[in-house]
Amino acid sequence: QAKVAGKNVFELFVPAMNLNVKKRVSLESSLRGALQGGELALHYQPKVDLMRRRVLGFEALLRWHSPEHGNVSPADFIPIAEDSGLIVPIGEWVITQALNDLRRWNDGRRDKLHVAVNLSTRQLRVDDITRRIAQLIADCAVPADWLELELTESMVMENVHAQIETFQQLQALGVKLAIDDFGTGYSSMSYLKRLPIDTLKIDRSFVGDLPKDQNDLAIATAIIALAHSLGLTVIAEGIETTAQAEALLNLGCDLGQGYLFARPMPAAQVAQYLAANA
Ligand code: C2E
Ligand code: MG
Ligand code: MG
Ligand code: MG
Repeated sequence: QAKVAGKNVFELFVPAMNLNVKKRVSLESSLRGALQGGELALHYQPKVDLMRRRVLGFEALLRWHSPEHGNVSPADFIPIAEDSGLIVPIGEWVITQALNDLRRWNDGRRDKLHVAVNLSTRQLRVDDITRRIAQLIADCAVPADWLELELTESMVMENVHAQIETFQQLQALGVKLAIDDFGTGYSSMSYLKRLPIDTLKIDRSFVGDLPKDQNDLAIATAIIALAHSLGLTVIAEGIETTAQAEALLNLGCDLGQGYLFARPMPAAQVAQYLAANA
């Protein structure tokens, strides 16, 4: 009896799962050669001071154009890169690439820009991660505080106990730390107080329905108040309309990022963008 049921379950679910697994395996094997093959690139999205409408820095966002699979979304390949460990060499390439690009854009600038790079917790588990990041920064010959690391709230809080020392070492190094997608995970207030972070990034799911949605308005208000009372900078992501930007500015949000200001752009367009938005 059990065997029959088991067989039915097998027949019902395995073919569909198999497709997924097949696609994943195929993406993973292509991703293995992507770095050497020059298939990876960074796009940059400005972070804007909401009050003064000035660009303060950029977030680097990874793009993969595969000859076999075409453009693959980060939502699809980042999890594969994390599970396979490929995120470690790829992530180091991202930091180096972003800092080298930034050095060119900051050359001759009075107000230096910073660059934010997304980090997976898988990267924090690498032995000596702080030393490795310090080495990458030194190789690029830039000040450590040009680099901001964005970690999602869920990743940070999942393993906060084991990571708090790493965060402290990174802070001592001088890099900035931001909690990404804030409001979607489960932050412990006591850890939020103890973590050496600089920035909270309001998730775009609370931004899209501003200023109409009363709940989102209340949540944005609360996150901004929390950030400021902890002495942190607060940035809202996913700003697409002037009304959203105005609502966030009125609530006291410091920075904004989103299609309203600019879509993520190839590195080759950044200098021109900066010249037009000085
Ligand atoms: P994220 O760090 O929260 O990045 C913000 C995402 O929102 C980006 O998607 C960006 O293109 C998109 N976005 C920006 N402005 C708007 C807007 O106004 N409206 C809407 N609807 N979307 C907007 P993207 O580039 O597809 O990246 C998705 C996620 O992949 C990122 O979320 C980040 O978690 C991850 N990711 C990207 N690059 C890297 C990387 O180099 N390393 C790691 N570990 N993760 C990365
Ligand atoms: Mg991010
Ligand atoms: Mg985010
Ligand atoms: Mg997000």
